[in-house]
Amino acid sequence: MPVSVDVEKCNACLKCADVCPNQSIEKANNGTKDHAKIIEENCIDCYVCIAECEQGALNQ
Ligand code: SF4
Ligand code: SF4
Repeated sequence: MPVSVDVEKCNACLKCADVCPNQSIEKANNGTKDHAKIIEENCIDCYVCIAECEQGALNQ
């Protein structure tokens, strides 16, 4: 399963992107706020990002 981002919880700190081994997370904006976005074609499902997110904004 690709990682999903709970945009409401995400504060766009991008700590998840810093630890992603495959550069699979970028910043995006949904028109209301900045948030992390998973580049699904690059994601290798390692879930390192989920452990790093202090906001609980990432889920399998
Ligand atoms: S670590 Fe969590 S709060 Fe920070 S950008 Fe990533 S998903 Fe958002
Ligand atoms: S699961 Fe792994 S590869 Fe996919 S976005 Fe998270 S850290 Fe990156």
